[in-house]
Amino acid sequence: MKIKVQQIGEESSVFHFTADAKWLAGIFPELAEAEFSLKRLSATGSAVRIGETVTLDISMDADIILECGRCLKEVEKPIRAEFRYVLVPYEPGEDEDPDSEDELYFGRYQDEEIEIDPIILEQLILRIPVRAVCDEACRGLCPQCGANLNEEQCRCERPAGHPGFGPLKNFKVKRK
Ligand SMILES: [Zn+2]
Ligand SMILES: [Zn+2]
Repeated sequence: MKIKVQQIGEESSVFHFTADAKWLAGIFPELAEAEFSLKRLSATGSAVRIGETVTLDISMDADIILECGRCLKEVEKPIRAEFRYVLVPYEPGEDEDPDSEDELYFGRYQDEEIEIDPIILEQLILRIPVRAVCDEACRGLCPQCGANLNEEQCRCERPAGHPGFGPLKNFKVKRK
């Protein structure tokens, strides 16, 4: 989705953006192997331009699907975010974008057009949790037989007592 800079004025204009797994695969094919998939995403934004500076305020609402880090079950996670981008025209030979801080991001546009897709992608990726669990109490898989311990109690033997005390079993007190 592209917005023409000339169509943005000093009064805010509203835009809507929606995306799904296909969009993600198209814009960022490397993510096909990633540990998450995009179920749905919608965003609403407003754009204001003063001179050449465009400010976008975007509110994003997405559902992603991840694997539980313990039992590998699919987990759906909502991602909600609000952020602001301040964009100025790209000038060849200029330094990199200034560092962004908090929920304010700086960027550049080119050819009098603003591409919304990479902005949404950046914000989505920033907010993917590194590790997800289906439930804080998830018991995961048995490391020996792979049984899902949330659903069944497998027959594997488990070491009794605290593993840290194992060596003490063979400890004999020397008597003088
Ligand atoms: Zn789990
Ligand atoms: Zn087992």
